[in-house]
Amino acid sequence: MGAKATVSDVSFDDTGVAFSYKSDWELKKAHIIFSIVNHPWVAYLSTGLVKGALYLGLPVAGLIRNTVFQHFCGGESIESAESTILHLGNYGVSTILDYSVEGEKTEEGFDLTTKEVLRTFEKARNRSQIPFCVFKVSGLADVNLLAKVQSGTEVSDHEVAALERVRERIDKICSRAYEYDVPVLIDAEETWMQDVVDNIVYEMMERYNREGVIVYNTIQFYRISSNKKLRDAFHAAAMHNYFLGIKLVRGAYMEKERERAESLGYESPIFPDKDGTDEAFNKALSFCLDNKQRISIMCGSHNEYSNYYLTILMEKHGMAPDDKRVWFAQLYGMSDNISFNLARAGYNVAKYVPYGPVKAVMPYLFRRADENTSVSGQSSRELSLIKKELTRRRLQK
Ligand SMILES: Cc1cc2nc3c(=O)[nH]c(=O)nc-3n(C[C@H](O)[C@H](O)[C@H](O)COP(=O)(O)OP(=O)(O)OC[C@H]3O[C@@H](n4cnc5c(N)ncnc54)[C@H](O)[C@@H]3O)c2cc1C
Repeated sequence: MGAKATVSDVSFDDTGVAFSYKSDWELKKAHIIFSIVNHPWVAYLSTGLVKGALYLGLPVAGLIRNTVFQHFCGGESIESAESTILHLGNYGVSTILDYSVEGEKTEEGFDLTTKEVLRTFEKARNRSQIPFCVFKVSGLADVNLLAKVQSGTEVSDHEVAALERVRERIDKICSRAYEYDVPVLIDAEETWMQDVVDNIVYEMMERYNREGVIVYNTIQFYRISSNKKLRDAFHAAAMHNYFLGIKLVRGAYMEKERERAESLGYESPIFPDKDGTDEAFNKALSFCLDNKQRISIMCGSHNEYSNYYLTILMEKHGMAPDDKRVWFAQLYGMSDNISFNLARAGYNVAKYVPYGPVKAVMPYLFRRADENTSVSGQSSRELSLIKKELTRRRLQK
């Protein structure tokens, strides 16, 4: 189908395509995983048990490795993610290697994370299956320092120097991205540190996005100010003559944001309901395509409507599905119905593929378990798609 696909070719219900890359055994395992996390109290109990077992040093790493880890992660190292990269690539789905070790707190740890991120560029260089690299500023910096700088509190010489080192780490990564011509995505953080991140990222864009988009910032559209942020970023890019790269997401820290706002007594920066977030997200997609001469985007979403809407906008703008200014991305192990069906219709699709030692990526896995409970709504959708495919393969009635 390739570049000639039209939106009518895209259906997110085709589970045959969605799970084509999964063997019967892998599909059955996915069924068990999503059945467990679907029940909030079972999910709560099992994550509690795993946390307890890890704390007590019980040998559960093997069990985790062969179940949830295998479902949501590419491997324990860049090298061991190779088979996942090739496997996804066979279905036209690209990989973004996401080093998912969290909670570094020392300068040494930040330098090691920087080194690891730089290693992902070595892997991605000249590999069409790895079109982007990614990192989180919170992996390269003390989050308390970022928050302190943003709050306007006076900082010591020592802290000024630490912030300068953060800027240097980010610059090192972005300059490598430029040198290797591998664009880099910079994830969005909590609102109380995001301004500091934004300032550095737009400085990088001004430096490296002169000829095309190398650096992408992330905007969370659950923020009431999100579309203003997008317009301001666009105007700054136009004024200073550089290209703008934006990853659009709804935002991962809603509860945390609301709790903090309430406890500190300021107005929540998050839309009060989901409709507000959805509307802001879809409006932004439209704005970006209206300004596609300058803006390139990645739609980081598991929302079927938003992904479908973007295909409609692309068609309206006469853009080929594989126009390099538009990418779709989902997390590995989730929303395969979106990723694989879009890829088959010729769109640019990538999966965030987390990797890292099993124990170190546990916080990431706990978050996936949490967001996949029936309370959050995503799991019932995943589960019903898996059941549909099991029935189609006659593995379940
Ligand atoms: C490739 C990729 C990269 C990502 N990168 C980042 C990142 O850098 N930073 C980051 O923060 N997140 C990131 N995320 C996570 C993302 O922000 C969302 O949490 C997640 O994708 C769920 O949103 P959705 O668009 O997929 O779908 P949906 O399931 O349609 O939306 C769920 C989201 O809607 C919002 N929402 C839900 N209920 C309400 C409510 N009552 N009021 C207001 N808003 C509500 C929340 O943001 C919630 O996460 C990324 C996701 C993907 C797929």
